[in-house]
Amino acid sequence: MCGVFGIFGHEEASNLTYLGLHALQHRGQESAGIVSSDGISLKSYKQMGLVADVFNASTLGQLPGRSAIGHVRYSTAGSSLLANAQPLMVAWSMGQMSVAHNGNLVNHDALKARLEQEGTIYQSDSDTETILHLIARSRGATFEERVVEALKQTVGAYSLLFLTEKKLVAVRDPFGFRPLVLGRLKNAYVLASETTALDLIEAEYLREIEPGEMVVIDEQGLKSTFPFEKKRPGRCIFEHVYFARSDTELYGLSVFETRKKLGMQLAKEQPAHADVVIAVPDSGVPAAIGYAQGSGLPYDMGLIRSHYVGRTFIEPQQSIRHFGVKLKLSAVRATLKDKRVVVVDDSIVRGTTSRKIVKMLKDAGAREVHVRIASPPTTWPCYYGIDTPSRQELIAASHSVDEIARYITADSLGYLTLDGLHAAVGDPERKTFCSACFSGAYLTPLKV
Ligand code: AMP
Repeated sequence: MCGVFGIFGHEEASNLTYLGLHALQHRGQESAGIVSSDGISLKSYKQMGLVADVFNASTLGQLPGRSAIGHVRYSTAGSSLLANAQPLMVAWSMGQMSVAHNGNLVNHDALKARLEQEGTIYQSDSDTETILHLIARSRGATFEERVVEALKQTVGAYSLLFLTEKKLVAVRDPFGFRPLVLGRLKNAYVLASETTALDLIEAEYLREIEPGEMVVIDEQGLKSTFPFEKKRPGRCIFEHVYFARSDTELYGLSVFETRKKLGMQLAKEQPAHADVVIAVPDSGVPAAIGYAQGSGLPYDMGLIRSHYVGRTFIEPQQSIRHFGVKLKLSAVRATLKDKRVVVVDDSIVRGTTSRKIVKMLKDAGAREVHVRIASPPTTWPCYYGIDTPSRQELIAASHSVDEIARYITADSLGYLTLDGLHAAVGDPERKTFCSACFSGAYLTPLKV
């Protein structure tokens, strides 16, 4: 769970990277960083915290040059430490290089153990550092050859941006687990996890970087190659369910439209006798609108989300800590009182959020609460870059839908089917998306 952004050939490279990271903030809130190049050397600035808190005019002023890459991080591998913040930047035999990574390598433990045994000293515990070590040890003649040789030893998910003094290189793993798109702003090329970052800086969206594609951008222009063994595509379906921002165009589909479709399908599969449909904001809103349209029930606002709950929040004293969800969400009594309410959310992970929401809605006067989830039960952890807890903590891995309904104290609970989900993203044969978090059908071995 991370966001990456890169730009080559613009006099305001680091300022635009800052804006791009802003648009990708939902992909990671732990740390933010930018590395820029003026053609001669690289400069880096990164800190723990949100993009707007990490950077200001003075720190951006220390990042000169016409090319830059940036990263926002939410740790899936490695702990939440400044040493793990990205982009990583190193000096090595060919000069300087830096890297920003979204994804997760499933054979990282084995690679790291081998490298350490051979004498490699690690500065962080992130799998991205392993990629740099593999590049540094490669005997390839050019930077690109070394990148390819390094990545051929890895298994798993990577959407990567590399910046050297003179080049920007983008690579997406052969399954294309995590997204990556290419855009253009005047004479500059732009790369980003999501199109929403292109929209913010008014860059034109050109296309997706394809699964297994490597793009090299330098003063001569852009070169595309497919250096890896071809695999069936495995684009992450959960990006459509929850992770990507609703205004993004993902794998050629509008995320907002897809989420609405999920809601419409959910209304067909899991109807409810109710008076009103409400969303768990913000993630459940498009699906709730779709559910209302599909069911003919009115859509209304029953929960309001506070926009001021940051990670810097200092926990109050023990006695009111259990407020948890209440800090983020509050119920609108006028909408809920004496109503039979359908509440739509995108997913249930541990079940604790839904349980608190049902209680909150009932405390606000709802007569019945029918929970509808716009994805199938989450039964398997993701090893490809989405932060999910262990299988034991996933409530649906060990409980039936009825048991979960009782736990969250809902009057009824309904999930979308896996067929319904795949149909909504235009993959009814389940051939182009990865939905392992719902099916357990992982596309790679997990221990390599
Ligand atoms: P839980 O209380 O663990 O069931 O949390 C479920 C809520 O977390 C849902 O409302 C989702 O919108 C949200 N969610 C789902 N997956 C993730 C994730 N990987 N990281 C953070 N939040 C998530």
